[in-house]
Amino acid sequence: MKSRPSFPAKFNTSPPQKLVKPSSPLSWVAGGTAKQHTVASSAASGLGLDSATVRSTMVRRLAEGGIEDELVLNAMLAVERHKFLDTALANQAYEDTSLPIGFGQTISKPNVVARMIELLRHGKNLRITGKLGRVLEIGTGCGYQAALLSHVSQEVYSIERIKGLYERARENIRPMRLGNLHLLFGDGLQGYPSGAPYAGIIAAAGGENIPTEWIEQLADGGRLVAPMSVTKGSQSLVVIDKTSAGIHKTVLEPVNFVPLLSGLSE
Ligand code: SAH
Repeated sequence: MKSRPSFPAKFNTSPPQKLVKPSSPLSWVAGGTAKQHTVASSAASGLGLDSATVRSTMVRRLAEGGIEDELVLNAMLAVERHKFLDTALANQAYEDTSLPIGFGQTISKPNVVARMIELLRHGKNLRITGKLGRVLEIGTGCGYQAALLSHVSQEVYSIERIKGLYERARENIRPMRLGNLHLLFGDGLQGYPSGAPYAGIIAAAGGENIPTEWIEQLADGGRLVAPMSVTKGSQSLVVIDKTSAGIHKTVLEPVNFVPLLSGLSE
């Protein structure tokens, strides 16, 4: 069993502060005096004081960088990214950097993860203040994004093709008691028809195109967010909206994700 990183002692040791949202919607600050914002149990969950503080700094930066969705910001505050990483990397957990998670795979930068989940929640029939319905994630990796999704959705299915990572994600997630998160070992290229239709589908690995199975498994009014190769050697974030009128595809900013591969790796 992987040892849990205890958070390094070098961080500032002031007590955890609740995020409050003052006058400007983008200026999230720690410890202000404006109306208290509901924070999903960061202080109550028994995590180290230090990690809560650095996490609130990370969330403030995300908000300054343009992430507006309060559910996403609160999820980023609540989920302890350092618990998904090896001990040696825990002190980099709240920097805006992608990090190795073993098996040649990486956990994405916090701002990319937050951006993708925010995009996912802006599907045409979704109220931005409410939780998403059922969501499918392709590429569980260490389970970090799956844990975030479980905070902003009613139910999450997350599928991983590398057995060792699937097992690691299960270990990481188990103590978090996220009853609405289902981890699956399988090839996500086929999606996961048993859970369909999905309000949202999100992929953490990029292929040459978007598998038709994913689009088929998307609900009417649902949204898919995934990296995809648009030209040779360059990937972009793609958003697909499915409505009764058809499929609408939007190509957004360049990104750099690991490849979407077929088959299982035992
Ligand atoms: N969301 C993850 C990111 C992991 S990196 C996290 O928070 O850690 C992307 C993952 O996609 C890798 O673990 C890789 O093994 C997985 N992947 C690639 N192709 C896949 C496929 N066809 N089915 C399921 N998972 C896949």
